[in-house]
Amino acid sequence: MLYCRIKTESGPAYAEVVERCGQLWVERLLSAAPWRTETFAGTPMEAIPLALAPLLPPVEPGKIICVGRNYRDHAAEMGNDIPTEPLLFFKPVSSLLAPGAAIERPAISERVDYEGELAIVIGRRLRNLQASEDARESIHGYTIVNDISARDLQKKDGQWTRAKGFDTFCPVGPVVSTSLDPTTTPVTVETRLNGDLRQRGSSADLIFPIPELLRYISAFMTLEPGDLLATGTPAGVGPIHPGDRVEVTIPGIGTLSNPVV
Ligand code: ZN
Repeated sequence: MLYCRIKTESGPAYAEVVERCGQLWVERLLSAAPWRTETFAGTPMEAIPLALAPLLPPVEPGKIICVGRNYRDHAAEMGNDIPTEPLLFFKPVSSLLAPGAAIERPAISERVDYEGELAIVIGRRLRNLQASEDARESIHGYTIVNDISARDLQKKDGQWTRAKGFDTFCPVGPVVSTSLDPTTTPVTVETRLNGDLRQRGSSADLIFPIPELLRYISAFMTLEPGDLLATGTPAGVGPIHPGDRVEVTIPGIGTLSNPVV
C-alpha cells in the first residue's frame, strides 16, 4: 500500500494512493494515521492525481533519527574513517518539509548540501530488539528524506544540531510505501540537482544494515510508532543554491522534489 497526507477542508488527512493507467491517484481518505491502525479503514473521495495533490509530509514522527556516514563512499568523500558503530544524530520535527515545498537556504551558512536517503517509518513501540527477532515486524513502511545540511556549520559547531536542524531542512515523502522491503530486496537511491544525476547508491551498501540499526538504537532508546529513521546518504553530496531543484528518487516510493529559495 502507498499513502500520502494532504490538506483537506476539514484539516490534514492521510489518503491512500493507487496506481491506475500508469499514474498515481489519491483516492481514499484514511480514518487514522496508518501506523496507528491495522485496518486502513477509510472513506472515498474524488480522485486527484498525486502530482496535483496538496501534499503534506506523510509522517508525523515524535522524533527524527539520522545515521551519519553509513555508506563507505560517502564517508571517504568527506575524508572520514569508516565508523565502527552507527553514528546517530537527531533532526527536530520542526525541520519537516512537504514534498514540493521550498527549502530555505539560511543566510548564515555558505555551504548547504542535499543528502538523499531511504527512511524508515517505525510501526510499533520498540525497545531492545533482539538478534533473534525479525526487525521487519517493527517497520511500518519506507519513505524518502532529503537530509539538508549546512556543511560549514556542521564543521564549525562539532555538534550537528544547528547544521541539520534549520526549518525546511527535512523534506520527506512524497508517499510512504508499506509494501517495499529493502531488507530483502535492496533499493536504489538517486539524487538529481536540476535534472543532473549526482548521487546513486543502493541500500545493499549500507555499512550498518537496517536490522542492525534498529537493534543498536532500540538498545538505548524507545522507538515509537511513526518515528522516522533516515538511513544515511551515498556519495555525491553537493551544494544547493536558490533557484535549484533537488529530486530524490527511490523506485516504489517515487520522487521527492523540492525547490531551493
Ligand atoms: Zn544524512
